[in-house]
Amino acid sequence: MTEAPAAEPLLDVIDLRTCFWTEEGLVRAVDGVSFTVGEGERLGIVGESGSGKSAMAASILRLVEPPGGEILCGQILYRGRDLIGRSENEMRQVRGGEIAMIFQDPMTALNPVFTIGDQLIETIRLHRKVTTREARELAIGALADVQIPNPARRLDAYPHQFSGGMRQRVVIALALSCRPSLLIADEPTTALDVTTQAQILDLIGRLAEEQGTAVVLITHDLGVVAGFCETVNVMYAGRIIERGPAQAIFDDTQHPYTAGLLGSVTRLDAVRQERLRPIRGMPPSLIAPPPGCSFQPRCDHATERCRAESPELLAIGDGHLAACHLASQLNLGRGRFGGLDGRGEPAPREGAS
Ligand code: SF4
Repeated sequence: MTEAPAAEPLLDVIDLRTCFWTEEGLVRAVDGVSFTVGEGERLGIVGESGSGKSAMAASILRLVEPPGGEILCGQILYRGRDLIGRSENEMRQVRGGEIAMIFQDPMTALNPVFTIGDQLIETIRLHRKVTTREARELAIGALADVQIPNPARRLDAYPHQFSGGMRQRVVIALALSCRPSLLIADEPTTALDVTTQAQILDLIGRLAEEQGTAVVLITHDLGVVAGFCETVNVMYAGRIIERGPAQAIFDDTQHPYTAGLLGSVTRLDAVRQERLRPIRGMPPSLIAPPPGCSFQPRCDHATERCRAESPELLAIGDGHLAACHLASQLNLGRGRFGGLDGRGEPAPREGAS
């Protein structure tokens, strides 16, 4: 019996390299990143600020253009067709219609001088063949979906008339109003308080599931992806340094940097019972990165080999890969994170009554 061919991924990023020019020199923000996103999948991309995760998201939407920056090479296959090389007109249809994005600051997506209704109706009409009247009904429905009270009346409100959490709900309504296949959410809850964070994540998850939308959730906080993402890519210095099913990343951590991120996760019981352990040192310069492993100046396990040779991202388990010379040899706290449900609430500890 012949095996059925594997389904083509929704998004297939292959060896993407993106740089920015600064007065200090060339910043290699994304340095050979490859990953896939399947239909309806939820992928987390995690790393400190400056790890290249936002530059990678901007590259996917082709928002990096000369003279500031440039995609140097690689492929971004969306439904099998490369986004690199498409005309700006084609990309306008892709952005919002096929691939939508939510940013940390809702005001990045909202124009302060137009009403919420104007912005929703314009977006819907840009991507869907509907009349203005139909677009208005769809806009009311989109606001109702994100649980904005009195949606018909709120269409006439301006962004500044909403609270931070409500504005982020409006942005989600805007992003999902055209039923994209892929939603890229870049730190969507970072500016919000913990309770609102959990509500916004629940909302994104519920609506994405209803619409069959795949989600790439970009965050510096591994606690946010727990319970939300099926797969996690950990980025450091423009590269993916660990990848795997979320359970493997949390419970069978193989890279010292990932272990460091786990140690610095804000967790309610950790705050009470143990000090958070920030990763010592600073992220490396992306203009002149250190020789060998880019994490070696901060790594407690670094050896001579680490200082001389850059480790490749290699498979160490079922779908689990790590770029570390000592992967599989270090005991990095198996199960230390187990059970966090992504809402900042720890699962009951074993043996707790
Ligand atoms: Fe640490 Fe060496 Fe692994 Fe890099 S390769 S993370 S320096 S042990």
